[in-house]
Amino acid sequence: MTSISDKYEAVIGLEIHAQLATQSKLFCADDASFGAAPNTHISEITLAHPGTLPKLNKKAVEYAVKLGLACNCEISKYNFFARKNYFYPDLPKGWQTSQHTHPICIGGTVLIKTEQGKRLIQMHHIHLEEDAGKSIHDVYDDYTCVDLNRAGTPLVEIVSEPDMHTADEAWQYVNEIRKLVRWLGVSDGNMEEGSLRCDANVSIRLKGDTKLGTRAEVKNLNSTRNIKKAIEYEIERMIKLVESGGKVQQQTRSFDASTDTTFSIRDKEEANDYRYFPEPDLAPLNLSDEYINSLKSSLPALPNDLIEKYQTQLGLSEYDAEQLCSEKEIAVFFENVLPFSNNYKAVANWINGPIRSYVNDAKISLEELSFLPKQLAELIAMIDEGKVNFSVASSQIFPELVKDKNASAIDIATNKNLLQTSDNSQLESWINEAISRMPDKVKEYQKGKKGLIGLFVGEVKKLSKGKADPKKVTELLQEKLSG
Ligand code: ADP
Ligand code: MG
Repeated sequence: MTSISDKYEAVIGLEIHAQLATQSKLFCADDASFGAAPNTHISEITLAHPGTLPKLNKKAVEYAVKLGLACNCEISKYNFFARKNYFYPDLPKGWQTSQHTHPICIGGTVLIKTEQGKRLIQMHHIHLEEDAGKSIHDVYDDYTCVDLNRAGTPLVEIVSEPDMHTADEAWQYVNEIRKLVRWLGVSDGNMEEGSLRCDANVSIRLKGDTKLGTRAEVKNLNSTRNIKKAIEYEIERMIKLVESGGKVQQQTRSFDASTDTTFSIRDKEEANDYRYFPEPDLAPLNLSDEYINSLKSSLPALPNDLIEKYQTQLGLSEYDAEQLCSEKEIAVFFENVLPFSNNYKAVANWINGPIRSYVNDAKISLEELSFLPKQLAELIAMIDEGKVNFSVASSQIFPELVKDKNASAIDIATNKNLLQTSDNSQLESWINEAISRMPDKVKEYQKGKKGLIGLFVGEVKKLSKGKADPKKVTELLQEKLSG
């Protein structure tokens, strides 16, 4: 049965604003960091006093170009800014300085993965612009407060083509962008603090149609969850509307996270007239090939390339490789262990398992962890040599190692009496004890219930407090029980 939603195709294009992680603002030296007391990062330039002049932040340009290169965009060599004129209390100059006709990065792609597989999403461009200040309406009943700390902080606006078709694709796209800006260090990608915000443009059309339908734009979505919910709601709303004989209006809408619905804030019949014109106080910016190439060669290995490499060259599963590349610091840690260990699978398991849960619980970053890549390699070697088993290593040795950078795994194992014994007479006495505790199970085993072997091994493990090498114990038990 074909449902109504099979009749239509949704089309989604996203505009993502990412605040660049520069120390200062886009056109002046004011501190660009988040969270200061209101109106403390506001020099005369931010306040637009007469006679002040802007000066372009070199780092912001560098960050925008790096992001563009990482997304395979074409980099514009000739750049200039424009004034986008409008009046608002949080915009002291009366215009926003933005790139208008000449964005710094053109085109580009982002690889996403959904249940349907992998797909390249086409981007339209990335441009540089300054942020406005913040109007705060919920402090006083009769007044609006204005905080101008954010006014003039540098943003990139990352604009996709209308190339996504489901809320899930949009969600994956935003996650990829967020991961990439963090990976490159060009933005902290923190959505709660507003460093990453998204406007979602949504339309529907009959399947097979190539012409775009009329869109609604849902503004200022500040979490990946809200992006997904807003798009899902819009698609459903539009289909219902069209099915009941209505027509989608071009609108700007807002999302209400308490009900997961959107509501119209204005009809967008014609484009606003922002009276754009080139900013006369800033000289055009020419980027040389040399400059662009030097940024290209300074890029770190990108997550998708590493995911590929870990699978093809190190034989890891796609899942393991993706986990290792979910954040740059994890991949860096993994890379740092590689010179000391060839057991890639074990290294991946350790990082994706005990190490990540430790840093999550301790609320520290991997860089702060005082456990060196070399120590991990040593620990893995000890397991491979049968000196300790994984559960003893992760539950008893690892917690000691993270407390002391200079500690040695083998010393801890020796001092805590954790080394596995391969001394047969010792193993045998544990085995005998285990067997004598479970005479009924022994009979069942001997009648053919071979799966019980695990129970005996477990008992020996307990008796030995983890010191018995399970492989050897299994062999000895099989011999003994069949005899
Ligand atoms: P504006 O700057 O007025 O918001 P743009 O034409 O620059 O408009 O488009 C902004 C975003 O909206 C882009 O990501 C684009 O892909 C997307 N978009 C444009 N038209 C549609 C449409 N009909 N349906 C879905 N998305 C659209
Ligand atoms: Mg828009």
